[in-house]
Amino acid sequence: MSHELLNSVAATTIHRDRDELDRAVGRLLLQFLELHSVTVLRLSDEGEIIRIVHCAREQPGEVGPVCTAATSTLPALADFPAWRECALRNEVVQCNGADGRPMTVFPIHGAREGASHGLLVIEAASPLAPRETDLVQGILGILRNHLALLDYGELDSLTGLLNRKTLESHFDKLRQRIESLQRSHPDRGASTAGEPSWLALIDIDRFKSINDGYGHLFGDEVLLLVSQLMKRSFRGADQLFRFGGEEFVVLLDRASEPGAQIVLERLRATIGEYAFPQVGQVTISVGYTRVDWRDVSTTCVERADAALYYAKSHGRNNVQNCEALIAAGAITAKCNDGDVELF
Ligand code: GH3
Ligand code: MG
Ligand code: MG
Repeated sequence: MSHELLNSVAATTIHRDRDELDRAVGRLLLQFLELHSVTVLRLSDEGEIIRIVHCAREQPGEVGPVCTAATSTLPALADFPAWRECALRNEVVQCNGADGRPMTVFPIHGAREGASHGLLVIEAASPLAPRETDLVQGILGILRNHLALLDYGELDSLTGLLNRKTLESHFDKLRQRIESLQRSHPDRGASTAGEPSWLALIDIDRFKSINDGYGHLFGDEVLLLVSQLMKRSFRGADQLFRFGGEEFVVLLDRASEPGAQIVLERLRATIGEYAFPQVGQVTISVGYTRVDWRDVSTTCVERADAALYYAKSHGRNNVQNCEALIAAGAITAKCNDGDVELF
C-alpha cells in the first residue's frame, strides 16, 4: 500500500495545470480511501466577500467535470457555514452534508500567510477515522509544497499577480471555453454565444515621472498598491496579470459590454481617487477589447493596445473600447491577408 501510495503521489505532482492537479488529488484519495466523493474548491478573496471560484468533483467510477459557476455570480463562501468555518479557522471541520452524509472539510493552505486559499471536501458513508484524516493531511502537505513551487514560477514577485508568461495558457483556456460555447450555439452568430469575455490593458500614466521624482522604492509601492486596488475591483473569476513594468492585463470573465465598461471605469475612478503615500494622485489609462474564439493572445493584446494608445493620446486617465473606437471611425482596422492592423 505505501509503495503504491508513493507512486500515486509522485504521479499527481507531475501536473502543472491547477485544474488537472485538483482532479488528480481527488482521484488519488478515491484510490486509497473508501469515499463517496472528493471535491476541491478554490477560494477568491474579493475584499468584503469570499467566493468559491471553481471546483473539481471526483466520484468513484466517474470522470469528474471541473465545475465552474454557470453564471457570472459565483457562490459566496458565507452560504456554506461549515466550509466557511474551515477556511477562516484553517482547521479540519466535520459536519453532515445536505443529504445527512458525513462530510470532512480540510483547508488547503496557500503559499502565503492568511486564510486558506482552497478547501477539500470529502463525503463518505461514515466519518473519517483519525488514520484516514492523517493520510489526507499528509497528501495536502505535499500538495501545498507543490502549489508553492507553481506559484513561484507563475506569480509576479512584487505584486502577487500572475506573471506575463502565464497569460498565453490562461488566455487559451478562456478562448477554448468561448469556442466550445460557440460550437454548441452555432446559430447565434460568430461571437455572441454566452456573455462575452474581455481583455483589458491597463497602464499607469506618467509612471516614469513618479520614479524620477520620488525614486524606485516609491514607484514599486505604487505598483503594489495599484495591484491591490485591482484585486479588490474585479471578481474572483477575472484573471489579473502584471504584463510589464507598469502595465497590467485583466481577463474579464463573462461581462456584458456595458458591464465591462462600468467595471473598468470604476477601477480608473478608484485609483484616481486614492491617496498614494508621498506621491499623491496616480491615474491609469485603459484599452480593452472583446475576446473572440478565433483570437490568439497576441492579436487580442494588440487590439487592446490600439485602444490604450488612443486613451494615452486623448488626455490619459480614460477607458477606451477598441470595437467602439473602430465603429466610431476613431481608429481603423485594416485587413491584410487575414491580419488586422489598427491605426
Ligand atoms: P505614459 O503615461 O505614456 O504611460 O508614461 P509612462 O512614464 O508611464 O511610460 P513609460 O513607458 O515611458 O515609462 C514606464 C516606466 O516604468 C519606465 C521605468 O522606469 C518604469 N518601470 C518599469 N518597471 C518598473 C518596476 O518594476 N519598478 C519601478 N519602480 N519602475 C518600473
Ligand atoms: Mg507602459
Ligand atoms: Mg505608463
